[in-house]
Amino acid sequence: MTRLALEGLHKAYGSSVAVGDVSLTVAPGQVVCLLGPSGCGKSTTLRIASGVERQTAGRVLIDGRVVSDDTLHEPPERRSVGLMFQDFALFPHLTVARNVAFGLAKLKRSARMDVAMAYLERVDMGRHAQKYPHELSGGEQQRVALARALAPKPRVMLMDEPFSGLDNRLRDEVRDAALAVLKDEDAGVLLVTHDPEEALRMGDQIALMRDGMIEQIGAPYHIYNNPKDRDAAAFFSDLNVIHGSVQSRQTDTPFGRFLTPGLVDDADVEIIVRPQHLKIELDSGERPAMSAKTGVPAPGTVVRSRFMGPESLIEVSMDHDKSCLRATVPGVFTPEAGTRVWLSLRRESCFLYPCANQSKVASPFERDAV
Ligand code: ADP
Repeated sequence: MTRLALEGLHKAYGSSVAVGDVSLTVAPGQVVCLLGPSGCGKSTTLRIASGVERQTAGRVLIDGRVVSDDTLHEPPERRSVGLMFQDFALFPHLTVARNVAFGLAKLKRSARMDVAMAYLERVDMGRHAQKYPHELSGGEQQRVALARALAPKPRVMLMDEPFSGLDNRLRDEVRDAALAVLKDEDAGVLLVTHDPEEALRMGDQIALMRDGMIEQIGAPYHIYNNPKDRDAAAFFSDLNVIHGSVQSRQTDTPFGRFLTPGLVDDADVEIIVRPQHLKIELDSGERPAMSAKTGVPAPGTVVRSRFMGPESLIEVSMDHDKSCLRATVPGVFTPEAGTRVWLSLRRESCFLYPCANQSKVASPFERDAV
């Protein structure tokens, strides 16, 4: 059973295409995050799913029923969708309880308050039921907004950056509370965010969007560890790029040799590694041993280092090409500028791609050292 299916959605505003071709499904109890930079078409996709906006082509199905296609377009109130936006304000003149009860017109009057209270309890806001929205903090208001959206038991919850107005600490708390409640419901959730951490934290599936298209979709672990290209990898963190050129189906780098069996001689490749996957060692006068896991250490000089809280960031100028690589290590590690160090790559966490505009890959790369 699929709660929400988007099939071949396309949306143009005049000659400008906001959504190129988007297809995805959301199962009951599943959270699918649309992740991408500003302007890539996430909100437009969500608005089309809700019915606020109509697609130029494609279909929207809820619980297997077509709610919008070329000939039919049901309005939001007939789609069984719950909406939650960053600035989706509560009614200021209604109490918290009456805000939540407002969407329950289908229920008997006597049942409305009971259901509203039950949902307020679930988001830990029962004790604030008789307050007015202006008496609540931002986080509390978002909890009420969540209760209000869920109380009518929608088939599909559509959430657009719902937590981005909250400060960091509160955001984590409200996000976790929301996720717990959402997981208990049977609705399918489509959540728009530009924040990779939020997508990793909330999503059962992450759909990476760029220029109106879904570039890659998959479970957070999979998509983080198997990005399809450099841009997909860059969604989640800063990247280091090491350039190489293929000779005899191998690519030699100062960090060791990589097998690149699908590429012809002289093809340019990029080896991408996240800062936390660089290993950094202080120079004790001799080259550290190479290993199958981290390949060959290469020497460099610390340019600067900063303590960032949970981790430290060290920038290193490499001897071989003067490129600057960034490594992060947990805790406090802040060697002074000028300190000599050795960097190596955690090879299983490296991604290898041919440089753009090359289509010389015949088989997947291998990551083993030779
Ligand atoms: P995102 O949510 O990823 O930031 P949007 O879906 O809001 O992106 O917008 C995608 C593109 O469509 C942007 O270039 C935006 O300017 C354009 N767009 C969105 N809504 C409209 C509109 N009502 N009229 C014209 N262009 C729009």
